Amino acid sequence: MTGLNIGILAVQGDVAENIMATKMSLEELGINGTVNEIKTPEQIADLDGLIIPGGESTVIGTLSLVNGSLKKIKERIANGMPVFGICAGLILLSKKAKDRVIGEMDQPLLDFLDIKIERNAFGRQRDSFESEIPMEKIGIPKFHGVFIRAPSIIEAGKDVEILSKFNEKIIAVKQGNIIGTSFHPELTGDLSLHKYFVNLVQKKN
Ligand code: GLN
Repeated sequence: MTGLNIGILAVQGDVAENIMATKMSLEELGINGTVNEIKTPEQIADLDGLIIPGGESTVIGTLSLVNGSLKKIKERIANGMPVFGICAGLILLSKKAKDRVIGEMDQPLLDFLDIKIERNAFGRQRDSFESEIPMEKIGIPKFHGVFIRAPSIIEAGKDVEILSKFNEKIIAVKQGNIIGTSFHPELTGDLSLHKYFVNLVQKKN
């Protein structure tokens, strides 16, 4: 057994932090696996699980569309590959996106999670904040959420499980093997969400 092959989509954004958090999660869980930066459709084809990090969703989406990664990720998700979308990654997984100020967005999306997202729902960079987030449904009583130009979920279909809300806004969801958070778990010392994802990947294999 060669172990799990987990990829971090490395176009732009919080790539290094997610590599570190995922490697530490594998180690602490005693699960055999590797974590790599991935960029191409060929690399995506070989993955057991993928994290789409936070960053700028229009940049990550446009570049991934051009090199064919978006299409490949979508294909793999449809076949059940677990994916964890963080902030911009959550936006990319969604079916529809609007921006709090600009309005409806026509940006490349994976069009998979049955949600509509509002980008920058809590304000701009200077409105960044941190808060304790309960996620009991997945066995995490409290998680320290870091919100940076974070989106919120304004519509969710019936197959979408709502994992958490902050100030009435939906900020974490699960649909099948996909999880998405508005906040950044890789920027805290808390590995519980990355560990939850690693376990999801292992269960699928
Ligand atoms: N506001 C960014 C976007 O819309 C997401 C911010 C983040 O990933 N921290 O793409």
